[in-house]
Amino acid sequence: MTPAQRIHQLREQIAHHNERYYALDTPEISDADYDLLVRELAQLEAEHPELVDSESPTQQVGAGSLNVAFAPVVHRVPMTSLDNAMDAGELAAWGERITRGLAGEPARFVCELKIDGLAMSLRYEQGRFVQAATRGDGSVGEDVTANVATIAVLPKQLSVAGTGVPAVCEVRGEVYLPLAAFERLKAAKQAENVARVAAGRKPEPVPVNPRNAGAGSLRQKDPRITAGRGLAFWSYQLGEVVGGPEFTSHHQTLEYLQALGFPVNPEIRVVDDLAGVIEFCNHWQAHRHDLPYEIDGAVVKVDSLEQREKLGFTSRAPRWAIAFKFPPEERTTILRDIQVSVGRTGRTTPFAVLEPVFVGGSTVGMATLHNQDQVAAKDVRPGDTVVVRKAGDVIPEVVGPVLSLRPQGSQPWVFPRLCPCPLQTELVRPEGEADTRCVEPTCPYQRDQRIIYFASRGAMDIEGLGDSTVQQLSDAGFVTDPGDVYTLTREQLLTLDKWGDLKADNLLAAIEGSKQRPLPKVLTSLGCRGLGPSASEALARAFGTLDAVMQASEADLATTDGVGPTIAASIVRWFAVPANREFVEKLRRAGVEFGRVEVSRLSQNLVGKAIVVTGTLEGYSRESAEAAIKDRGGKSPGSVSAKTFAVVVGADPGASKLTKAADLGIPVLDLAGFQHVLATGELPPAGDEPATGEAATGEAAPG
Ligand code: NAD
Repeated sequence: MTPAQRIHQLREQIAHHNERYYALDTPEISDADYDLLVRELAQLEAEHPELVDSESPTQQVGAGSLNVAFAPVVHRVPMTSLDNAMDAGELAAWGERITRGLAGEPARFVCELKIDGLAMSLRYEQGRFVQAATRGDGSVGEDVTANVATIAVLPKQLSVAGTGVPAVCEVRGEVYLPLAAFERLKAAKQAENVARVAAGRKPEPVPVNPRNAGAGSLRQKDPRITAGRGLAFWSYQLGEVVGGPEFTSHHQTLEYLQALGFPVNPEIRVVDDLAGVIEFCNHWQAHRHDLPYEIDGAVVKVDSLEQREKLGFTSRAPRWAIAFKFPPEERTTILRDIQVSVGRTGRTTPFAVLEPVFVGGSTVGMATLHNQDQVAAKDVRPGDTVVVRKAGDVIPEVVGPVLSLRPQGSQPWVFPRLCPCPLQTELVRPEGEADTRCVEPTCPYQRDQRIIYFASRGAMDIEGLGDSTVQQLSDAGFVTDPGDVYTLTREQLLTLDKWGDLKADNLLAAIEGSKQRPLPKVLTSLGCRGLGPSASEALARAFGTLDAVMQASEADLATTDGVGPTIAASIVRWFAVPANREFVEKLRRAGVEFGRVEVSRLSQNLVGKAIVVTGTLEGYSRESAEAAIKDRGGKSPGSVSAKTFAVVVGADPGASKLTKAADLGIPVLDLAGFQHVLATGELPPAGDEPATGEAATGEAAPG
């Protein structure tokens, strides 16, 4: 393909995606994939200036046809787009262009969050709200006055203390859907879909992200629907102003907007140089999920209005501003297949096999689809183009299909009737339950999962006995239940593919070492439903040996602190199964200790206190720090709440925990503070306290 042909092709593709995104609010590709197309086009146009065309999407704002449901509005001051920088290098290059444009004169910058919403212009005449318009192609937008009038946070009548209001005042900003409102909308749609599918009707598309849901909510023909969605607004700019005060800087206009009664984002910062800009961008890239709304980057603007005048505009964007875009958390890819895995308790989980795609910082090739109802509610089908999302350290999610790209003749996916293991037994879904199960006790897939679980860190912690080794051992017929790992011999291991002396000896040593595990770990390793680490710990304290637990009545188990009737019943049922008892006997014969209880002799000075640990503390692993708290009678939950006694912070702490601690005024401790609490059960005296929540936030994460 010649460059001219490729340019033509890219322009057509981009025009198509602009239409889907701006006019229809139903994009077919992710923003990141769209940005790649635009970048490729811009690059080709730069290499072939003779092919540049003023109609090219690289020279225009927004575009796509306007929705005919709304009347056109001509913008008296154009609404521009923003150029963007994808990394610190591109940001620095922009900084150099600014310096050159200002002939070396230093500039101050205003750093703002790039709200992932919909640009809006609000017009007030004599202080009264008269019109709202979308950006459209920058010159002409759509009249969405009735819909915007339903946004509760917007003033209907302006007033400023002291001075009168301008005769005309246009305010620009971003309409967005807060995350909580988005989750509500999504949950309602999903529930509706489950009911629709149950009634034999087709599911409806579930909103994919807050931006598209927000844009769709705003551009409703019936403003009553918009009113119920909970849209919000951040203002960041003035448009046409007649009869208003004069300003010399951008930050003064933001203060004025606030004085007029508009919401102005509290995270906006004025910085003196590019280093400050980069710090702001890095900070928010790491903390984007601490906010109750979505951002997709930061926007950096030259503060001085006089300097802005000198720098001017390109055909589509100001030269004095740049959008720093964060790496993508959403991509589109092909769903190759939906398969079902079988867990150790027989629960089956459908999962998506994806064309691998780089998203949220790693390559994603698989994602759980949870259960049958979830697949039906999302109506994802093999062959679909799907949106995949991975935000922060959250597990990847298949958000939904791109319906316009669904292959012809595609059929809804049907949950398999039979277990995928070689025995192919019939799966059952008990009435009223969301899970479908394999109930065949000899199912080899369940058996392998039980062995993997038995050897896992929270249970017998046998190093080297992971998924692939278990697979090899069970394929060779050496293990049929977890108890068999204790009968493995060196000779057996050496017959396996790619096993040498060292590997075999290491595994045997790890297996031998596991016989000394304390009772809570042994109880956990049984794999009885409901008997996780904390219930195991409680039972170990109360009963002292595995035999005592085995002989205890359901009533005795149920009255143990931290156990309760459901787990008690499950334990009794588990021990009643002969194969399970045989498995316990195998452990006994192997010499596994059944009564190693490490009862703490430490003073129980943390009873009733919850201490959250985040980040790495010198001299402690995460487990040992938590154990130190529990050994003194305290709790160490994974999240901060109003009831948290203190938050202990090491290197690389979790941002959300710190923010939450600061918000709730929970004391934040460093290593020395932690040691003080362990020793005394009390917080360090106020003067010794290393940091308040807020100071620690600043220290731990610059910005
Ligand atoms: P942009 O979204 O990169 O930047 C400009 C916009 O940022 C402004 O119009 C404004 O709405 C917004 N913004 C948010 N916070 C702001 C702040 N504090 N100050 C100023 N502006 C702020 O550019 P664009 O031209 O609006 O849209 C292009 C982008 O839209 C693409 O990069 C892509 O992410 C998305 N898009 C996606 C598709 C698709 O098919 N997925 C199609 C078209 C566009």
